[in-house]
Amino acid sequence: MTHTPQVEVEIPKLMDSHGRQIHDLRVSVTDRCNYKCVYCRSGESGALYSELEIGQYLRLIRLFISLGIQKVRLTGGEPLLRPGLLELVEELARLRTPGGGKLDLAVTTNGHLLPKLAAPLKAAGLGRLTVSMDAVDEIVFEEITRIPGSFKTVLAGIRAAKAAGFTSIKINCVLMRGFNDGQIEGFAKFARDEEVVVRFIEFMPLEEGRLWKPETVIPLPELVERISRVMPLLPIAARDVSETARRYTFADGVGEIGIIAPVSQAFCGACSRIRLTSDGKIRTCLFSQSEYDLYARMRMGESDEDLSAYIVAAVLGKEARHHIGEPGFLKPSRSMVHIGG
Ligand code: SAM
Repeated sequence: MTHTPQVEVEIPKLMDSHGRQIHDLRVSVTDRCNYKCVYCRSGESGALYSELEIGQYLRLIRLFISLGIQKVRLTGGEPLLRPGLLELVEELARLRTPGGGKLDLAVTTNGHLLPKLAAPLKAAGLGRLTVSMDAVDEIVFEEITRIPGSFKTVLAGIRAAKAAGFTSIKINCVLMRGFNDGQIEGFAKFARDEEVVVRFIEFMPLEEGRLWKPETVIPLPELVERISRVMPLLPIAARDVSETARRYTFADGVGEIGIIAPVSQAFCGACSRIRLTSDGKIRTCLFSQSEYDLYARMRMGESDEDLSAYIVAAVLGKEARHHIGEPGFLKPSRSMVHIGG
């Protein structure tokens, strides 16, 4: 009998100095956006930062994957505005993780260009799609996006994505007291009717303007109680420790909602994320005050080995947690639209 030796493949891991393994990379491909959502944009300024070439994102993302990144989410700004996005998705969809698995590839979009791009994105190999939608009422929706006609376009976009074959589409809804908290119950119905997963996100102080106040945040317990009053909720067990959303189904087992509560129930201790901005800077936390200029090193001609060492060092410097709501809290050096959410 012959014996086949087992070859142990060592899977590299990005680990921070707090013992957290980093396997989730968010990449902003532009900080331009065609919406002016009140909780994000001031309504005045546009893009502030440059964009790398598609080939440059690819080179950097490949390095991150070789170091243990398993999930890549393309975001912005509005990623669907970015010329070359389909080519980037096509190339990334072919990549394998060091363990030989398929890369978990997702896009977060406001959905405006999905009627045109959902089918091409699916054909390019995109795995998962998250669409931001902050109201199920047309008037409230357009008061938030400040773009006339946006409600019908986004709804058409979500339906185009379903028709293109995307399943388990996630809808991100940022809740703000006094703006869209009247939509909570409607969203519970929307999740069931449209067969989408609605994820309510607590409003964070990441907007361009100065709108955030602790009272504007609708904390998780209040949200669960309000939905349960109309449709009882049952918690769903977490799939892994770094899952950010608390997931629930309705008592009849139809539909799913999730609650992401970075303010009232921060999950920094289980954070597995790192971000690359459109201009090639590494941000180790949404609330970082500083960033690591990976692009500058690439432009200086550094080798893949040196760039990888720089990524490893940046991850080691990841902050332990954010300090939202604490005395002396400072807003980060960039707002959400310029970081990539
Ligand atoms: N344009 C795309 C979109 O609308 O989904 C991608 C970029 S957007 C910055 C990514 C996500 O960040 C969206 O789901 C948005 O709702 C969320 N977001 C933006 N500002 C936020 C804030 N201040 N607090 C919580 N989430 C926020």
